This record gives sequence, C-alpha cells and structure tokens, in this order.
Amino acid sequence: MNRSLKVTLFGMMAGVFVLFALALGAQNVAAFDNDGVITSDWISGRSIIDKNPQPFDNQVDEQEIADILWMREEEKLARDVYLTLGEKWGLSIFTNISTSEQKHMDSMLTLVERYGIADPVGDNGVGEFTNTDIQALYDQLIARGNTSAAEALLVGGIIEEIDMIDLENAIARTNNEDIRLVYSGLKCGSGNHLRGFSRTYEQQTGLQYEPQVLDQAVYDAIISSSHDSCTMPLKYFLPLTIQS
Ligand code: ZN
Ligand code: ZN
Repeated sequence: MNRSLKVTLFGMMAGVFVLFALALGAQNVAAFDNDGVITSDWISGRSIIDKNPQPFDNQVDEQEIADILWMREEEKLARDVYLTLGEKWGLSIFTNISTSEQKHMDSMLTLVERYGIADPVGDNGVGEFTNTDIQALYDQLIARGNTSAAEALLVGGIIEEIDMIDLENAIARTNNEDIRLVYSGLKCGSGNHLRGFSRTYEQQTGLQYEPQVLDQAVYDAIISSSHDSCTMPLKYFLPLTIQS
C-alpha cells in the first residue's frame, strides 16, 4: 500500500467518523427560524414536527386541547390585527410581523391536525373568530389601534405581551414535549416581535414604551436581550423523541 493510498484511506475513515459524530449530534439540536418556527433538526434536515410521525401515541387532556384551540386563534388574532392596522397606517412593521404570525398559525395547525382536533379557524376570514372572547378582544384592539398610529403600535406590543403570558401558561400545563417545543419557539418569536414594536413606538413617538401586562422586570429582561435567532438545544425539552 503506497503512502498516498494510506493517506486517502485515513481521510475517508476520518470523514466517516465525523459524519457519525454529526449524526449523533443531530439528536441534541433543533433548528428554528427567526420566527421561532421549527424547521428541522440541525444536521439531517428531517422535520421534527412531522404531521404524521410514526410511531406517535401521545395523548392530550381537555386542558391541553383548550390551550391548542386558544393559541391557534390567538395567533390568528395577531395576524389579523397586524394585517388590518398595517393597511390602516401604512407601517411596514405590521406587514412584516403578520407574515411571521401566519407561520405561527401554521405551527399551531400542525398540532391541531396531529392531535385530531377540529380546527377553530377553518375558512374564517380576517377578523372572524370562533372563540367569542378572542372575537371581543379583536374588536377592542382594532377600535383602539384605529385611533392613531402610536396606539396601533401599542396594540402590537400588548398582543405580544399577552401572547408570551398565554404561551408560558400553556407550556406549564402540558407534559407533551412536542407541544412544549412548538410553544417555546412561538414565545421566542414573540419576544422578537415585542422588541420590534417597542422600538418602533419609541422611534415614532419619542416616548418610552411601558409594559402593558407584563411585569416590568420581565419586560426589561426581554428588551435588554438582543434579537434571538430562536435556535435552542433540544436538551431543554427532553425527553423529546425525534421522529425519523
Ligand atoms: Zn405569534
Ligand atoms: Zn408575534
């Protein structure tokens, strides 16, 4: 065996070893996009949140179903308010974030379908909701956001604050790691959106954004952190089984 062949064989073995190590590493990291939507595990590109994973036998109780239904429509509320107020005031932040909220709605639809729940959104148009509390909240937020561009930006802020609180509560009420993973990603995306709305409000008005429903300390911690890529190690969500 000549020297160059030995070097080549060694290189190939090293390559196989590296690939194997990367494959093992893939068990530990999930990829999220900037909106906090899970895209794939880190290396192989497999989808973790597969609509029809095999095998899959997690169960959801009534509270978990209620939370999935609520979050599905709450993400729609965010999208619809931003679409409507974006058109009213011509502020690009609303249009930009509304596309992110569409992805959040899609993430929730994945859970709705996975757990065989009837989708509360269906063919409902912009501003139409099944849950009467969410309908009332939507109507109230649109009325407020229509009064001025500054109020509209505050409406964006309060939606993100409420979203983060509801997601935090929903995370605490489920033991299903796939559901917690989706909620955690959406919550990370909401932090980015809240930073966006508070910054734009302050630029447009010269006033300081004050948290509307979050504790000041919690708000300060969110605002002082930088834009999050929403990529997080799966170890925080163990024992999630990655579906192949
Ligand atoms: Zn969202
Ligand atoms: Zn948001």
